[in-house]
Amino acid sequence: MKIYGVGAAEGIGIGVAKVVREQSVEVIKKNIPDIETEVKNFMEILEITKAETEEMSQTLEKNASAKEAEILFGHIMLMSDPMLVDEIVNRIKNDMVCAEYAIDEVCNQYAAAFASMDDELMQQRATDMHDIKLRLIKKILGIESTDLSKLPYGSILVAKDLTPSMTAGLNPENVLGIVTEFGGKTSHSAILARALEIPAVVGLSDLPDDIKDDTDILIDGENGEVIILPNEEEKAEYEKKRNEFASNKELLKKYRELSSISKDGKRVEIAGNIGSPEDVNKVIENGGEGIGLFRTEFLFMDRDSMPSEEEQFESYKKVAVAMDGKPVIIRTLDIGGDKEIPYMGIQKDENPFLGYRAIRLCLDRKEDIYIPQLRALLRASAFGNIKIMLPLITSMDEIREAKALIETIKAEFDSKNIAYNKYIEVGIMIETAAASLLADIFAKEVDFFSIGTNDLIQYTMSVDRGNVKIAGLYSPFSPAVLRSIHRIITEGKKAGIMVGMCGEAAADPLLIPVLLSWGMDEFSMSASSILKSRQIISLCDSEALRTKVDKVLELATESEITNYLKKLTEEL
Ligand code: PEP
Ligand code: MG
Repeated sequence: MKIYGVGAAEGIGIGVAKVVREQSVEVIKKNIPDIETEVKNFMEILEITKAETEEMSQTLEKNASAKEAEILFGHIMLMSDPMLVDEIVNRIKNDMVCAEYAIDEVCNQYAAAFASMDDELMQQRATDMHDIKLRLIKKILGIESTDLSKLPYGSILVAKDLTPSMTAGLNPENVLGIVTEFGGKTSHSAILARALEIPAVVGLSDLPDDIKDDTDILIDGENGEVIILPNEEEKAEYEKKRNEFASNKELLKKYRELSSISKDGKRVEIAGNIGSPEDVNKVIENGGEGIGLFRTEFLFMDRDSMPSEEEQFESYKKVAVAMDGKPVIIRTLDIGGDKEIPYMGIQKDENPFLGYRAIRLCLDRKEDIYIPQLRALLRASAFGNIKIMLPLITSMDEIREAKALIETIKAEFDSKNIAYNKYIEVGIMIETAAASLLADIFAKEVDFFSIGTNDLIQYTMSVDRGNVKIAGLYSPFSPAVLRSIHRIITEGKKAGIMVGMCGEAAADPLLIPVLLSWGMDEFSMSASSILKSRQIISLCDSEALRTKVDKVLELATESEITNYLKKLTEEL
């Protein structure tokens, strides 16, 4: 049985269920004649609980990091809040009630106040408050909390919900997964699960009530999948996924902090492709050295009207700031072709890929589309290392017209004292046969090239990139495509400009050694491919490979080339 929830901590968990049933505590209002002793007891229990939390946070600091330990410091702070403590004490004294009742009443009031706030962080405090309340009451009533630190190896913890203190006490060596009915991605328990690297799926509204201890369970904490009582095929699939995840994690440890340097010391840049500012985190997590392609069309999609200059400015600025001075190549709007935007009122072309799209459309719609975007880009350039990239270039006129527009905006900004980077680089995508053939001329006019193989292949081979019937013809290893790529890199380097690639082929393990040997400077790809590609680069001696790699330019067929490169890369 497969059910879906929210993937809260990535990783694959394979194990058996250990079900933690909620221990509800019943609080009865009891009248207490000796309030002094009751208050003294409460204060003692409060101090013991604070000391235990302190201990837990130290363990957590060891198992995770200081940042996560702060969540438990937050609990100590709450327990040390004089207002909260006074209110509980006053309640005991004034109403002459037992401590557990006073704690329950006061903490519930605080939790309700936190829960009603708009701020997500404050709402989180409500869960923290409940966590504290339960621990204090259980201690007063002498109820033992289930000791989750003793769960045996291979446990998948199944619970309605987990409190931060329960999660923090888990032993990540033994607990291989967490499954809960409630909770979200940003809850403190989810944050702790991620910090402890325990795969977790939360918010499983379909979680059956009757799962028994020791039932086989598989979980995929990235995709939010849980399989209860899996069959052999599912088990094998998850084992494969788990091994892949583990080897990727090893790569992560080894290559994340490293630069991208070949065996013979040649340094290149591996950057990430993104479609929104939110994607930047994944690039940073995977050790990306920049953004090689920000596809801005995604800011224009799934909405009813164009994003304003201001909105665009905020998005571009966010990426520039997050990348903290590292290069951020932002491509101007590339719509048309396979990417449609209904509110723009663009008529459907008979041959959309050869039609009214990208730079062609933008230069035709300067006032309402292109100028606002270029203004937003220039303004955002004051906040980081933004570079502007023009898509689908086929002629020098397009480059000059776009650059002239940029210059006009710069002049206006100068006169109005609007900040921007005066030296902002302007580059082009080389993704048409025309641009490849004119690479030598274009290289004199622009600051960088980025090879868009996704389109370059389709325009070189006359093969629709989305048509499965002719997919066999669509390959970066077609001799014509490889010659084109070689030409673009050579001409770009001859002119002394940076040459990168942001099409899918940039992460192809067979192609990377070739591109490196030909002198390509920047490889831009989806975040998940960055570390593997960095590893391949570290294994290549680009100089020693050079003559061997050049042989591909003499080969006549795609299969000859791929077979040749397979052998070559096996020897790395
Ligand atoms: C390309 O064509 O290679 C490219 C990166 O652009 P897109 O895939 O957005 O067309
Ligand atoms: Mg393209």
